[in-house]
Amino acid sequence: MPVFLGIPLIGWIQMIIGVAVVCFVLVKYLLRPKKRKTSGYLIKNVHVIVGDGSEMHGQNVLIKNGLIEKITEEEITSNSAQVIDGSDMTLMPGLIDCHVHIQGLNNRSDEDSDRFLRGEIPNIFKERVLPYGITTVKDLCAPRHFIYKLRDEIRKGKIVGPELLVVGPNFTAPDGHPANTLGGDNPWIRKEMAIEVSTAQQVSEGIKELKAADVDFLKFTYQGGDYWYFDKKLQINKIDKSLMQQIIREGKENGLNTTAHVFYKEDVRDLLEAGIYGIEHGILDEALSPDDAIINLWKESGAHYVPTVNAMTYEKNPDYLTTNMHNLKLLYDAGIHIAMGTDNMLEMMGGEVEHRELMYYVEAGLTPMQAIVLATKNAAEHLGISDRKGLVHEGMEADLILLEKNPAEDISNIQFIDKVFLKGRIVYSQKVISSYNIPDYSYPPEVSVMKYRKSDNADKRIVDVSGFKDKSEIIHTVYTGDSVFSNEEYTVEKNLSCSSWHYSRPFDNTDLTAVKDGDYIKLTGTFKGKPQEKTFKIGDGLWYQMMDMAMPAFIASDEKQIVFYSIGTGNNRGAMGLGEFAAEKAGEETVEVGGKKYDCVKITFVLTAFSWAWTGLYWYDKKTDQLVKSGEKGKNAVKAGYQLITVE
Ligand SMILES: [Zn+2]
Repeated sequence: MPVFLGIPLIGWIQMIIGVAVVCFVLVKYLLRPKKRKTSGYLIKNVHVIVGDGSEMHGQNVLIKNGLIEKITEEEITSNSAQVIDGSDMTLMPGLIDCHVHIQGLNNRSDEDSDRFLRGEIPNIFKERVLPYGITTVKDLCAPRHFIYKLRDEIRKGKIVGPELLVVGPNFTAPDGHPANTLGGDNPWIRKEMAIEVSTAQQVSEGIKELKAADVDFLKFTYQGGDYWYFDKKLQINKIDKSLMQQIIREGKENGLNTTAHVFYKEDVRDLLEAGIYGIEHGILDEALSPDDAIINLWKESGAHYVPTVNAMTYEKNPDYLTTNMHNLKLLYDAGIHIAMGTDNMLEMMGGEVEHRELMYYVEAGLTPMQAIVLATKNAAEHLGISDRKGLVHEGMEADLILLEKNPAEDISNIQFIDKVFLKGRIVYSQKVISSYNIPDYSYPPEVSVMKYRKSDNADKRIVDVSGFKDKSEIIHTVYTGDSVFSNEEYTVEKNLSCSSWHYSRPFDNTDLTAVKDGDYIKLTGTFKGKPQEKTFKIGDGLWYQMMDMAMPAFIASDEKQIVFYSIGTGNNRGAMGLGEFAAEKAGEETVEVGGKKYDCVKITFVLTAFSWAWTGLYWYDKKTDQLVKSGEKGKNAVKAGYQLITVE
């Protein structure tokens, strides 16, 4: 091996190759196509609801580094921000809910709770909280083990969720709420969620513990007597008055404001006199008159009020709802500081609760704009974070909702959210509705009534399309044995997309009407005894409420796959929501039904959000276009559905 300058030839070769490789990589890197780096968003020409009751039109809003950097009518030039056209849109602060409960009540151990936190919480935030524009919440009683951990994970960005303020466990009397209510048959919940106090020393120790845990506020229950926990009537003890005063006083000495769960007027009076910071729920045992002395006492005390009107719907006493709304309006007019809180149990419910809460405020007599202020500026003030949240102002954190419709005009417009920003990042963006060119369909002359039965039981369905030609009408009846299970009437367009739908299912008190109105479907009526009033965006999308019966139009089209929409009426999570389905042509097959052979087009359905969970299978006769057989693919086998009896 030749050697030069003390280095063998192979060493030289390796060195030269090494240098060449480094040079090549470096040159490649320097000559890489320069991708323009985008950072932040520029929302152009948008209507702004500020959060303090005012609004501005035609604004350009620059969001950068998590903050609202600039708001102006003047043109903003930014070569890095992504531009969003805000014409016809409204921008408002993210909603702040001052009274929620995140924790699952079924958890019975630290391990259960950890599983719930890792497994379910991220989805709850992603699907049921952030899409509704809720960007800050205060949890008003939770297991210590759970809530501090969750707060820290959100702060570190490990879980994407609303900013979380906490009180930790609640002070209460021995055998008070939530100790013997939520914790009645769950020792873990009782130990984790309640600090049962009967001595001054226990109060001091509790405050010390909570301060060390860095809670944002203290909370206690100030209610005794009857307490309905679901269908169980329990007796709860009220915390001793002197201990109640001690919590408020010692809390203040430790830099912690205190808020109290309370239902009755006399208790509210005690609390106001003791200098409470926040009243949760309020006076439910009396509809106040405007000259009641307690209003003045309240006003002078400066105590804030968190009405939680939604929580009244959990209560056995039906008067609580109307009393709460009556007092809310009175207290509002008296100038009491009110902040939105709902008592939303996020484990079971979603952000429609917060939207509903705003609607209650309007029902109580506030204007939509006044209601919005309670959920933005006032809520931020109540939580002590108004220096950075609650307003669309320059320098504020960019927790924002971009809406398609203006909620200051009609508070129910709060549901038409296009995008949600959390500290300047888009955490929700409305899905684009797919639309297709499906040609006009007409039923073959020999087709007017189809009858089906389920292969494994006595269920039958009859589809009557005889009214299609003259009235664009289709009638669909499902029978269990000989009795009617449900009856539906559809008015359809030529491509079999629905324009109106009436659904009745008498046995469980369901009667619904949905009508297409422009880009929206308006649903009203009763579902399982509960009143419904919903609006879904459909745009130019296909509303195939009659699902498998609408497929003949798709089969006649050139599309291989379509996405369509349908309102759920079953027992699952999709009930009373607009589900998104995909239908796909899956080839041709000959099937035998009732001893007769049919050459069929096979179609599969999936729910786009759960495409792994369920696949519906449908076969359509190539001669009549009509459904011959259906089934569904489970984990292991194909389960049979309906089979054709006759086409008349
Ligand atoms: Zn609560």
